[in-house]
Amino acid sequence: MMKWNAWGDPAEAKPLSEGIRSLIKQALGVEEPPAEELEPEQVRLRPSALSPGDREGLAAIVGAEYCGVDDRARLLRAGGKSTLDLLRRKDSGVQDAPDAILLPGGEEEIAAVLRFCADHSIAIVPFGGGTSVVGGLDPIRGDFKAVVSLDLRRLGALHALDEISGEAELGAGLTGPEAERLLGERGFSLGHFPQSFQFATIGGFAAYGFYAFVPPYFSRTFGLDYATIGLIAGLAGGVAVGLGIVAGGFLADALAKRDMRWYALVPAIGCLIALPSYLLAVLQTDWRAAAALLAMAGFFQYASLGPTFGVVQNVVAHRRRATATAVLYICLNVFALGGGPLFTGWVIDRFAEAGFHAENAGWIPPSGGRSSFLFNCPGGEGATAANRSSCRATLTRATRRGIEVTLLFFAWASIHYLLASLGIAKALKAAAWRADLASSVQSESI
Ligand SMILES: Cc1cc2nc3c(=O)[nH]c(=O)nc-3n(C[C@H](O)[C@H](O)[C@H](O)COP(=O)(O)OP(=O)(O)OC[C@H]3O[C@@H](n4cnc5c(N)ncnc54)[C@H](O)[C@@H]3O)c2cc1C
Repeated sequence: MMKWNAWGDPAEAKPLSEGIRSLIKQALGVEEPPAEELEPEQVRLRPSALSPGDREGLAAIVGAEYCGVDDRARLLRAGGKSTLDLLRRKDSGVQDAPDAILLPGGEEEIAAVLRFCADHSIAIVPFGGGTSVVGGLDPIRGDFKAVVSLDLRRLGALHALDEISGEAELGAGLTGPEAERLLGERGFSLGHFPQSFQFATIGGFAAYGFYAFVPPYFSRTFGLDYATIGLIAGLAGGVAVGLGIVAGGFLADALAKRDMRWYALVPAIGCLIALPSYLLAVLQTDWRAAAALLAMAGFFQYASLGPTFGVVQNVVAHRRRATATAVLYICLNVFALGGGPLFTGWVIDRFAEAGFHAENAGWIPPSGGRSSFLFNCPGGEGATAANRSSCRATLTRATRRGIEVTLLFFAWASIHYLLASLGIAKALKAAAWRADLASSVQSESI
């Protein structure tokens, strides 16, 4: 069982040796002994804001024993395991927590809880293993009356396993080790081992643009197992990308000896070659050809990285280099890695919805609901086994189209790099002149 205010299982904790303790004290300049840890009973929690009526309504859905408002249960679901989360747990003031904990026993109960909460203005935070490090479990009420934590641990079964495609249907509340055990009994492996494997759940695993969609693409389009997809992602996304980064840096430095514009032209050409390679990759009907083209695209795309970082470091003043790198990383992480997958996922969803609707125009689903993808496909209220193959085909096409749309951003990037090449020589020379001037002023004053 994970500690409420720290990472890991206390039963497996190993005390630090005296030598390591004194090294840490010296390195960090710590003089005082560590502050006493709060016991869970000492934590003052904001009282539950759930009204008795709402509590009764929710308890009627999941059962009274699975609808808890006691402080201990609420404290255990009060947030994730980031440094900020753990620091918050040390706060001796009033701490926030969800207003109730619900442990639904199945999909029907979840659907009923969602309907109830929507009707009664109650926010819901799904809770898997509680290992989030990005604030995803914060009990934020916003404009809602209350917020409840929907703990999915009771959904802990392996529902189905297709031994030919290797596709498994797993309960969202299964932790990594439990899922591995259940699959292992049938000779299979999950193939996904994040550092938080021990506690994180399948739901949490499921919850980065294009690369984030490589595994689903290979799974949905070619029905490959996760071991093969892992190998493709490692070779195409790791080895080829790594080689591209090194090659791009060497090539740009070598060519820039003759003309500084190469610092922008190498990335521009890289992106221009990457775009059709990615597009060709998603048009392949053979996964080996798709993987080879993907590796080639990754190599050329990432050739831009070295020159980009080099130019950023050289056009800013010495004292701004750390800030410039930080800003570049913010852009990479927030816009590319954060916004990219969100955008790709959103586009895929739109294509899936439009595709399903067009294909099933005029069809009235047996459930009586709309002919919408979200409603009729796995995860939706009206999903049936009969819809599966149509949903799968729609999703395969939508994933391909979504990736194609996202790839157009490479064309946009190339245009920027080409524009940058027009003024880059001047900017680099001006920066070098400023640096020379600064060092001569400094040596004169010495
Ligand atoms: C020490 C440590 C190491 C880590 N290492 C890795 C790593 O190597 N790789 C990696 O990718 N991440 C890592 N993480 C981050 C985190 O563990 C993962 O994101 C993990 O997949 C979260 O799973 P969880 O079950 O704990 O989800 P939770 O933390 O419970 O939830 C995460 C988010 O998903 C939502 N959610 C949970 N279940 C569902 C569901 N069924 N349906 C809809 N939404 C849901 C929650 O509301 C929350 O917003 C690490 C975290 C820690 C603390």
